[in-house]
This record gives sequence, C-alpha cells and structure tokens, in this order.
Amino acid sequence: MKHLITLFLSLFTTILLGQETYLHCGRLVDVNSGKILTEKTIIISGNTIKSIGNGYQTGVADAAVIDLKDKTVLPGFIDMHVHMEGQSSPNTYIQKFTLNEADVALQSTVYAKNTLMAGFTTVRDLGGSGVNIALRNAINKGAIVGPRIFTAGKAIGTTGGHADPTNGMKKDLMGDPGPKEGVVNSPEDARKAVRQRYKDGADVIKITATGGVLSVAKSGQNPQFTIEEIKEITSTAKDYNMLTAAHAHGDEGIKRAILGGINTIEHGTLMSEATMDLMVEHHTYLVPTISAGKEAAAKAEIPGYYPEVVAQKAREIGPRIEAMFKMAYKKGVPIAFGTDAAVFPHGENASEFVYMVEGGMPIMEALRSATITNAKLLGMEDSLGQIKEGYIADIVAVEGNPEKDVSTLKNTVFVMKEGKIYKSE
Ligand SMILES: [Zn+2]
Repeated sequence: MKHLITLFLSLFTTILLGQETYLHCGRLVDVNSGKILTEKTIIISGNTIKSIGNGYQTGVADAAVIDLKDKTVLPGFIDMHVHMEGQSSPNTYIQKFTLNEADVALQSTVYAKNTLMAGFTTVRDLGGSGVNIALRNAINKGAIVGPRIFTAGKAIGTTGGHADPTNGMKKDLMGDPGPKEGVVNSPEDARKAVRQRYKDGADVIKITATGGVLSVAKSGQNPQFTIEEIKEITSTAKDYNMLTAAHAHGDEGIKRAILGGINTIEHGTLMSEATMDLMVEHHTYLVPTISAGKEAAAKAEIPGYYPEVVAQKAREIGPRIEAMFKMAYKKGVPIAFGTDAAVFPHGENASEFVYMVEGGMPIMEALRSATITNAKLLGMEDSLGQIKEGYIADIVAVEGNPEKDVSTLKNTVFVMKEGKIYKSE
C-alpha cells in the first residue's frame, strides 16, 4: 500500500511538474561571465532550467541523473546562417530539375537531425524554396528531430542576382520571376516581397546584396540592390518585427546594406577597413561563415564539382574570408557566429569555432558569439543562449575542455533541447 501511495505521489509530481532531470557537470561554461565553473548540478524540470547548484545533487527517486562529471557542459549552440533544404554535391545544380518538393522535404529532415546532433539547438535558415517553413513547423510540433529554426523562407534578390532562382537556365525556363518568387526591381517590389514572406510564414528576411560564389552568374561581388530598395526592405521588415540579413561579398554592396539598415552582413569577404568602421558605427553584425569560404575553395579544386563559372569565383573569393575575419575582429566589428552549412555537410558547423580561434578570437568570445549574441539578435535573450535559471533547457556537452582544445567542440557527446535528451553517449 505504502509503495502504491509513493508511486501515485511520484506520478502526480511528474504530471504536475514534469519529470526532473539532474545533470552532474564536471565543467560548466558560464558564457555570461566567461568562466568555466566546476562540479555543478543543473536541475531541469519539463523544458526549463529550474536551478543550478553546487556539487553533485540527487533529487527524488524518479529523477533522472545524467553523469557528465568528466565533460564540459555548454548552452546549445546557435548558428545564424544555414540552409536546411540542401547540401552541396556535384549534383547540386542538376537537382533543381530532378528533385520534387517532397524529395527536398525528406532530405531536409536528415540535415536537421545532423545539425541538432552536433549541438546546434537553434539555427537561422537563410534561404531555400519555402520547404524550410514546413520543416520549422514540423520540428516545432515534435514530428521531426531538429533544431529550433528561424527561417527566411525564400531569399530576396534582383533579376539575374544571386537569389534569382532561374539563373543559368535556358530562356524558355527562365520566365520572369517577381516579388512572390523573391525577385525585386524597385522599392515597391521590395515592399511586396517582404510582406509576401510574412504571409508565407517566414521569421526573418534575407537579401542577396551582391553577387555570390555558388550561383551560375559571372560576378561574385557586384552590388545588386539600390540603397532605396534596401531601405524599403528594412523599413518594411521592421513593421513586421523581422530581422534582416544581407548576403554580401563586395565592398560597395556591403556599404549599401549597412547604410540601408540591414542587421547582419553575411560573409563580408571583400570588406574594406573603412566599411568595417562603418559596421562598428552602425552596430551591424558580421556573420563570418569562414567554413563556407574554406570549403568552396577546396571543392573548386575537384574537377567538375562546380560549373566552371562557379569554380573560378570560389577559388578567387573563398580564401579571402579568413583574412577579412582577422581584420574585422581586430577592428571591433560585432560578430555573430554563422557557418553557411549546406555549402559543407550539415553537422560540421562547429568547425567554425576552430577557424574563429585561428583568426585571433579567444574561444570564450567565439562561444559567446554562438550563444548570447545570437540569442539577442533573434530576440530570445531572455530564454536562450545561457544556462540560467528559468531559461529553456537547451544544453550540450563535449568530451574535453574547449579552452585547452577548441576542436573538442566538434564532438558533441550530449544534446538536450527543451529539456528532452536527443543524444547521450
Ligand atoms: Zn548562405
């Protein structure tokens, strides 16, 4: 009888308060203070961090205890630049004509899972066909395993620009895509394209302010928006409380994006020092995507991997991101962690930490960039990006100490998202 009462009580507590989980953390990274704390217990109730205490505590009989005593525990990572729908391969360009929407949807579920398993509990998807919106919804419903997604839906470009979906096609397939498809050629078009994305269910707005490396087009750096068009994008996005991101390699396009009020500059490859100063002045964030630059340059050496027009740009532009990052960091440009996963395999996002450290950024700053900074940009600073009482329980662990070996971040051994354990090795 006593046993039955205990069982009933514990069941009652579980239903009422949710199952509690105790994480015994040998090392716990406090990204706020920049310190690594030792021997702590995180108590998780439902999807929330209930408390963080000293030593290794145990709770009531039914509480789950996870031993991470010889691991380093960190807040779940946030990547500000991924594309969940695809992944680079020599077939990428032909797949536009061979894959149905359902094929794209199904493969994106695999990429989403790989991303979460690598410790990235939140991502910003900066452009696909719109399947990324359905993917976000399916993950939110719990139907699919993946990170929390903030998505741009379909990116916005100009005719022949980096986000024109018909670039490189033969004439009868080109058509004349407009604002609905994400191609704009006036401030009026720009306004409509933003409103259309809001209607489609996008969370953020992405434009391609300059040419890009991987599109079938001649220039990887020419400015492709007028400043009036960009201003219309940002002011309309503001009406809908949507964050704005601009893909940009060339200096003139970057400058226009900053002056036009864009929140984050993606890549920023050929940015001049004067434009870096402008970023500091306007408090515009750089999302460096060093991983993508390196990967594109490496893949360009494989004959036939990219169309020749793309390979040429990848060889020329790719290797220049690292030097730009070094200088931008030195000059105090605000930096938000982002990788451009899809250019390289999803799940390898943490390599960016290694490249940032190689570029002169201390590991703790790189970790803050991937947690506190990105949570703030997404308007989630009160619930994401830290292991703190009352925050959403997005928690990961790695084997070693990242202050001693940054590459340990590439091997996540534990992943919890919203209090649910997805990986525990
Ligand atoms: Zn991208």
